Amino acid sequence: MVGARPFSILVVDDEASNFEVIETLLSIPSSGAASRLTDTHPHQLHYAASGAEAIASLDLFQPDIILLDVMMPGINGLEVCQRIKAMPQWQAVPIIMVTSLASQNTLAQCFAAGADDFIGKPLGSLELMARVRSMLRIRRQHQELMLFNNHLEKTVQERTQQLQTIISQDALTQLSSRAGVLQRLAEMLHVRHFSFAVIYLDCDQFKLVNSSFGYTVGNQLLLAIAERLKQLLCPGDMLARVGEDEFCFLLHHVEDEAALKPIIQSILQSFTTSFKVNDCEIFMTACIGIALGNSAYQHPEEPLQDADTAMYKAKLRGKNVYQLFDRQMSVAMLNRLTLETELQRALEQQEFIAYYQPIIDLQTETICGFEALVRWQHSSRGLVPPGAFIPCMEETGLIVPVGIVMLRQAAQQLLDWHHRGWPHLIMSVNLSVRQFASPTLLADIDRVLAETGVSPASLKLEITESALLDNPERAIEIMDQLRSRQIRISVDDFGTGYSSLSCLHRFPLNDLKIDRSFVNQMSESSRNFKIVSTIVSLSNQLELTVVAEGIETRQQLDQLRQLGCELGQGYLFYKPLSACDIEASILTS
Ligand code: C2E
Ligand code: CA
Ligand code: CA
Repeated sequence: MVGARPFSILVVDDEASNFEVIETLLSIPSSGAASRLTDTHPHQLHYAASGAEAIASLDLFQPDIILLDVMMPGINGLEVCQRIKAMPQWQAVPIIMVTSLASQNTLAQCFAAGADDFIGKPLGSLELMARVRSMLRIRRQHQELMLFNNHLEKTVQERTQQLQTIISQDALTQLSSRAGVLQRLAEMLHVRHFSFAVIYLDCDQFKLVNSSFGYTVGNQLLLAIAERLKQLLCPGDMLARVGEDEFCFLLHHVEDEAALKPIIQSILQSFTTSFKVNDCEIFMTACIGIALGNSAYQHPEEPLQDADTAMYKAKLRGKNVYQLFDRQMSVAMLNRLTLETELQRALEQQEFIAYYQPIIDLQTETICGFEALVRWQHSSRGLVPPGAFIPCMEETGLIVPVGIVMLRQAAQQLLDWHHRGWPHLIMSVNLSVRQFASPTLLADIDRVLAETGVSPASLKLEITESALLDNPERAIEIMDQLRSRQIRISVDDFGTGYSSLSCLHRFPLNDLKIDRSFVNQMSESSRNFKIVSTIVSLSNQLELTVVAEGIETRQQLDQLRQLGCELGQGYLFYKPLSACDIEASILTS
């Protein structure tokens, strides 16, 4: 219902007597006193003696309806009507034209001027009353609709504001959210303010906190981290929580990398003391990626994405590390990301297959086994060598499932060849650092052994030096476990790692594979020859079998034979081949 103000009726007529007639007809007392024209609402009557006066008094009288004489000196009624209808704030006020010129033509002119109704002189009480009432009803409906619209608009605005607050604020920490940062960045880019820096911070292994202490403690830890970071905030800068365990500083005035050093140091420093949460003392580290503002940025997502990319790069380097973004990074990252998803898909679609390179007994020049080497059978790129994807799989951990796929394929293949008349063959399979550290390694191997039924004594696992040295105690434990299953163990790429020859005896090894970089240049470099001969003699003392990789020439073969190297592989004999090719050209002959 419209408010308590009485309806205001403005009568515009150059003859005051006409006003009195209307007043009488409507039985309404003159201006100032309120009366009831309808049962539900009081009304007030106002008078203007000319068009100009009427227009000038609109603000004062706030009319709800206007009774407008057509024939007036000065501005006539039609003109007045037109002018009032042209004013947005008065447009909706119904205007009833009052005229004695009741011709069709005048009628048309009245409506063309925007009038809502029309009444002829001499005025009759009933007709006037009916027209005024019906116009007031329309007026009232319109006002109610306006009121409703205003209310609706206000509610919508409030809700939008609430939503805006919700999305621009993080519910847990009350810090800004990702949307909040994007909004601020958008504002800065809009005014071409580029001297900002985005510092993206990701807690290392936060998931461990959630999984070991539960989400409540996890949340409290996030609150504690937020609190600590807030202390580092300068006035005007922004701190936001942009992901589960990800925070972001938006610094407004940073000229160069050097200006950032102090804050980076304080951020990293702030993680050196533990966080006390629920009587637990939790140590946390974080990696930081930084993007500096520059005029190439067009969308607010870009600096945030770049800082995230740099952070990701920092993560690859370890814990508590920071990294500044540079453009090459994003190209590499994009390639990396597409490679990552492609590799995941390749695993699902079983595109990884084993190729086999024969391992030769150098004295008899006969095949005593194979090394299984992974190949990616890519639908458009063809056969992709492992150098192009193993590093990525190492980083992502995908090497663990792919490694097991290889082990299973190689084991099945070996079993098949054993059954088909070559029972003496040994199969070597590569184990990456990541696989060797995998807590499921032994269970995975046992499962493959059980599934395939291959004899473990004819399996050899190739492990790199670095896998042994990361955690020697654990490495020995695992190797003992493997040996107890009769699986043989070989150190791959020997000589390229950091192990000193003297610690070799601690490990329960069977073979040493001399890295092909030494074998390749054995003839050209006396140093390499010396290394190879030392490794061979040491291996003999430790009762380890020596395998030489990458034998490409007769000369190399002869030298290795002289030194007493027992086994070898290389292009001189065979390149890695598919199982089919091996059956067709080697095993059948
Ligand atoms: P690696 O274990 O040292 O394997 C020997 C590599 O030397 C193979 O490269 C082989 O093709 C190559 N090679 C063999 N003979 C010669 C030669 O005479 N001259 C030269 N120049 N190269 C020779 P590939 O197949 O490209 O494998 C590269 C590396 O990828 C492997 O080095 C190994 O570290 C890794 N890798 C391959 N397959 C697997 C796998 O199934 N699992 C894991 N974890 N790593 C694998
Ligand atoms: Ca190998
Ligand atoms: Ca090797």
